[in-house]
Amino acid sequence: MDCDKCGDEAVMHAAYSGLHLCNDHFCRSVETRVRRRVREDTLVPRSAAPDDPETWVVGLSGGKDSVVLTQVLHDTFEDDPRIELVALTIHEGIEGYRDESLEACEELTAGLDVRHEVVSYAEEFGVRMDDVVEDDPEGMAACAYCGVFRRDVLERYAEELGADKLLTGHNLDDEAQTALMNFFEGDVQQMASHYDASLGPFPEMDPYGEADDSATDVPADPTERPRRPQDHHVPRAKPLRDVPEKEVALYAHLRDLPAHITECPHAEEAYRGEVQELLLGMEERHPGTRHSVVAGYEKLASLASSAFGAAEPAEYGECANCGAPTGRDVCRKCDLLDALEAA
Ligand code: SF4
Ligand SMILES: [Zn+2]
Ligand SMILES: [Zn+2]
Repeated sequence: MDCDKCGDEAVMHAAYSGLHLCNDHFCRSVETRVRRRVREDTLVPRSAAPDDPETWVVGLSGGKDSVVLTQVLHDTFEDDPRIELVALTIHEGIEGYRDESLEACEELTAGLDVRHEVVSYAEEFGVRMDDVVEDDPEGMAACAYCGVFRRDVLERYAEELGADKLLTGHNLDDEAQTALMNFFEGDVQQMASHYDASLGPFPEMDPYGEADDSATDVPADPTERPRRPQDHHVPRAKPLRDVPEKEVALYAHLRDLPAHITECPHAEEAYRGEVQELLLGMEERHPGTRHSVVAGYEKLASLASSAFGAAEPAEYGECANCGAPTGRDVCRKCDLLDALEAA
C-alpha cells in the first residue's frame, strides 16, 4: 500500500483513522500527537521564561514508551530555553531485566545530552524487588509492592530535582485499560483523583484561587475544566497518551531508538491483562474503541473532579516515620518496609 499523504511505500495502516502512512509521515504523526497533547494540556505555563525555566522530570525506564517520550520531548524542546528535561531511572533490583534497560537509558540520554539520574530501591530502602517477591510478607503481587516504592521514589526525587512536572510514558492502551478498570470497579472518586493528578489541563491562572470563585478562565464546557492543583504532590502529565502502544513500538523501531523490549519477570497484573485482551478484541472489531473510551472517560473524570475534588487536600498529613504526604499515620511504603524487615 502507498502512503495517503505522499504516495511512498506505507509502513503502517491505522484502522481507527483509515490512514496508510510512510515512515516519514508516520513518525511526524506521532510527534504531532505528542506536541498537540503538550499544548492542549497547557504543559508550558505562561510564566516559564529562559531565566526561570520549568524543570520536567521524565520517568525513563528504558522501555519503548518512556524512550519515545524522552526522544520526542527532547526534539521538541531542545532549542527552547524555557524547558529543562531531566530523565529519572529507577532500579528496582530485578535480575536480568533492569540492568539491560538501564543501558538503554544511558545510551539514549548520553546521545541526547539529557541529564540522567538513577536511583535504586537497594540504596533508598535497602530492598531489591527479587528479594521482596521471595519474602512477600503481605501475600501481594510483586507490582503492588513495586508501585508503592516507585511512587515514593518518583515523588521525592522529583522534588529534590526541583521538578515542576513529572512526565510518564503511558500510552493510549495503558490509559484505556485504566479507564475501563475504574469503570468496572465503579470507583468514581478514583476517576476524580486520576483527573486532578495527571489528566486535566493545567490551569493557566488559578481559577480556584481564594480571591475569585467566579473566575473567568473556567471554560464554558465543564468537561474541559482544568485540573485542581494538588499541593502535596508534584503534578504529573502523560503526553504520549494519544498514541497506541503498537505505534509507540513502531516509532521506536523506525527511529532505531535504544529501547529495551523484555518484560519484567514479575509482571503479573492479571486483571489489567484481562482488560487489555478485552479492549484489543473490541478494537479489532470496532476500530477507535480505545480512543472513545479514553475521551469519554476524561470528560466523566473531569465532571467527577468538579463534584469531589475540593474535599481531598484537608485529609492529607505527613507520615510519622518518613514525612511523606499520606492520608494515614504511617505511609504505605513504611508499612511495607516494616513488614519486609520482620519477614
Ligand atoms: S512489572 Fe511490576 S514488579 Fe516489574 S517493574 Fe513493573 S511494577 Fe515492578
Ligand atoms: Zn508519506
Ligand atoms: Zn513513611
